[in-house]
Amino acid sequence: MRVLIYGAGQLAKMMYLAGAPLGIQVQAVDVASGKILDPETKQPMQLSIAEAIEEADYLSVEFEHVPEALLHEAELSGKLLPSMRAILTGADRIREKTLLDKLDIANSPYHVITKVEQLDQAIEELGEQLIIKSSRDGYDGYGQWRLQSKEQLAELKDALSSLNLQKVPLIAEKMIPFEREVSMVAVRSRDGSMSFYPLAENLHYRGQLHVSVAPALKVSEELQKQAEQAATKLGDELDYVGVLAVEFFQVGEQLLVNEIAPRVHNSGHWTQQGADTCQFENHLRAICDLPVGDTSATRCAAMVNIIGVSGFNRDMLRIPGCHLHWYRKEAREKRKMGHINLCASSYEELGNAMLALSEYLPIAQFPKLKSSVQQLLKKQ
Ligand code: ATP
Ligand code: MG
Repeated sequence: MRVLIYGAGQLAKMMYLAGAPLGIQVQAVDVASGKILDPETKQPMQLSIAEAIEEADYLSVEFEHVPEALLHEAELSGKLLPSMRAILTGADRIREKTLLDKLDIANSPYHVITKVEQLDQAIEELGEQLIIKSSRDGYDGYGQWRLQSKEQLAELKDALSSLNLQKVPLIAEKMIPFEREVSMVAVRSRDGSMSFYPLAENLHYRGQLHVSVAPALKVSEELQKQAEQAATKLGDELDYVGVLAVEFFQVGEQLLVNEIAPRVHNSGHWTQQGADTCQFENHLRAICDLPVGDTSATRCAAMVNIIGVSGFNRDMLRIPGCHLHWYRKEAREKRKMGHINLCASSYEELGNAMLALSEYLPIAQFPKLKSSVQQLLKKQ
């Protein structure tokens, strides 16, 4: 079987690796150049997009910001899963919010901003602490501005004045004083049945995911169910096939959706070592109409993103349950270079492994690692 993935980064590569034992061959489209690449080596293949589409059994995406013309071509082949509608919903915060509201799924209150003057009304209705997000092309905290108080409004308006808001509007969201962030990674099969991984708890730094722990501690059955219900409503409405991720803010016992991702997700990387079947394999299984594998966690797991670090000693592999996934990319500030999965049979052991890991790493670049032991694990 052959699957063509739009996007040729680490997510495509991890799908490639997960597909190999199943005999599923994964190729990737570099959406900037339109070239077909080997996802592992990044070497171009002597194949046009049209030929690759023709040869593929299924098409899918590793990220939602695929140019619409390419998505159109993919959709026309009848092989694209999830559908173009699902992908575009995840790619545009206004579409996403509109769908959440339509389905009555709780999410953070917002205003659509097509002129900077509308920020005044947003402040009046949502309060002066706002997070302003570009409705398209944002990721890892890019395309976001924070307003802490009214005094910063003039400066913010100035910063936004060069943007074409008629073309790409913004959304102004109320800053949510959440207790924590959790995410749901779900898999939906062709027949509409859904499987759910346990919720992961996520720690962000400057708008970017740094550490996930799964299963998240202190998750009541009710909370897990809320997350599953939100994913199910979205999956059913979009007639979704594949892995769907939903990020939430937890406020008391209520979950508010932050955003959805129509693809495998960074907060699901722990499943590579911490679950029976990882998210990458299950995405391929779902789109290729194969039975979806067990999504239960087999151990406690932590995923630590390696961000902006060009390379380091691999001695940390001495830590029991430590696994490195290195993407072989050129280092840039804020760029995700790889991740480390740590697994253990108890949270206490996991905490110790995280502390041990911090001894091996350039700690300034892992500002959330030590504190995450306190924040994520000392809750029992
Ligand atoms: P990523 O690609 O890492 O998911 P993103 O650029 O798509 O990030 P968001 O997920 O919307 O952007 O925001 C990034 C982070 O900023 C969130 O995980 C959260 O920590 C913080 N954040 C976003 N929106 C809000 C909000 N309304 N209130 C409080 N914090 C927020
Ligand atoms: Mg996010």
